Amino acid sequence: MIFAQGLIKEFGCPVPQQINLLGLDRPALEDYFVSLNARAFHARQLLKWVYQRGITDFSKMTDLGLPLRQVLSETAALALPQIASDQHASDGTRKWLLRLEDGNCIETVFIPEEDRSTLCVSSQVGCALNCSFCATAREGFSRNLQTSEIIGQLLLASQTLIAEGFGPRPVSNVVMMGMGEPLLNYDAVVSAMRLMLDDLSFGLSRRRVTLSTAGVVPAMDRLARDCPVSLAVSLHAVEDELRSKLVPLNRKYPLAELLNACRRFLANDNRRKITFEYVMLEGLNDSIEDARKLARLLRGIPAKVNLIPFNLVPGTPYRCSAPEVINRFREQLLCDGLVTITRRTRGADIAAACGQLAGEVRDRTNRSTRLGASEIGR
Ligand code: SAH
Repeated sequence: MIFAQGLIKEFGCPVPQQINLLGLDRPALEDYFVSLNARAFHARQLLKWVYQRGITDFSKMTDLGLPLRQVLSETAALALPQIASDQHASDGTRKWLLRLEDGNCIETVFIPEEDRSTLCVSSQVGCALNCSFCATAREGFSRNLQTSEIIGQLLLASQTLIAEGFGPRPVSNVVMMGMGEPLLNYDAVVSAMRLMLDDLSFGLSRRRVTLSTAGVVPAMDRLARDCPVSLAVSLHAVEDELRSKLVPLNRKYPLAELLNACRRFLANDNRRKITFEYVMLEGLNDSIEDARKLARLLRGIPAKVNLIPFNLVPGTPYRCSAPEVINRFREQLLCDGLVTITRRTRGADIAAACGQLAGEVRDRTNRSTRLGASEIGR
């Protein structure tokens, strides 16, 4: 019998709380097996069972010895969130409301397209950034998601879609663009993204995993070193005054600093581009002059611009720019040499579009505490 060193308390009883192995990336899983007095390479076997074959029952992992399987079933678990609801939009977009162990719910969105299928993954329960045009902000902030809850969204979506006949690899791209600010939950998000990239689990290329941030500058520098996935930056305005109203984080990391961080992010990799997201708000940021300023601001940064038609969020004062205004804005950017696309709104009839994810946030932190104590500052 192999003893679970470190998992057995001094007096010999197993720790009652089982460890959720979905929370461990490959190095952490190797450490875990070593802590069981087992060999590190079992981590590789376990990753393949879980992420490539969709097996979460230890007893079926036949290349692990029986005693090890038994220790695992006593001390560990592979626990996924529960599906609380499952909505289908008329355009094929799918939204799952997932219930977590503590009763909080988050949303995950699957967006099938002709040449790819993208999963939009949440990183926090609610969001602390309080962007004035976003539905998630209105829910307040409850807590960071754990690695297991982040990778669990991808595993659950993949398993569900495979069972429905979507083929062996139903998710080709992941965007960290669901609820929350991923760079304010750095460690768990990076661990989960490492699992997405690991050849023994999902094996997605770094081009197919995109993290979107409102601009947490120090964490952007860390990300470039630790896990250089594709980066999207929520810009939304070309001047600090308006950007601070839309994205209060701008007061801490204003435009000039943010754009310098973008330059640093790309410094060692001249084949890549940063995607700049720009929500089109009628009469606020959608003039031709704004487009010209945007092109000037991004000069010298390998960039693509993603124009996002504003999706209605009840209780906000904003409206979406008219289609011809968005077109003109886009033409101006193209004229100035910027690769620009207008993002198609997907899943609006089930409130699955950008900025519409609300989930069900419990135990929300008091807003004044939140703003005082968080990264945002004033
Ligand atoms: N916190 C991260 C991840 C969220 S990604 C970030 O800010 O980048 C979601 C994207 O949708 C962001 O670009 C966000 O600014 C945008 N968004 C939020 N509300 C929106 C709305 N109502 N309509 C269109 N886009 C919205």
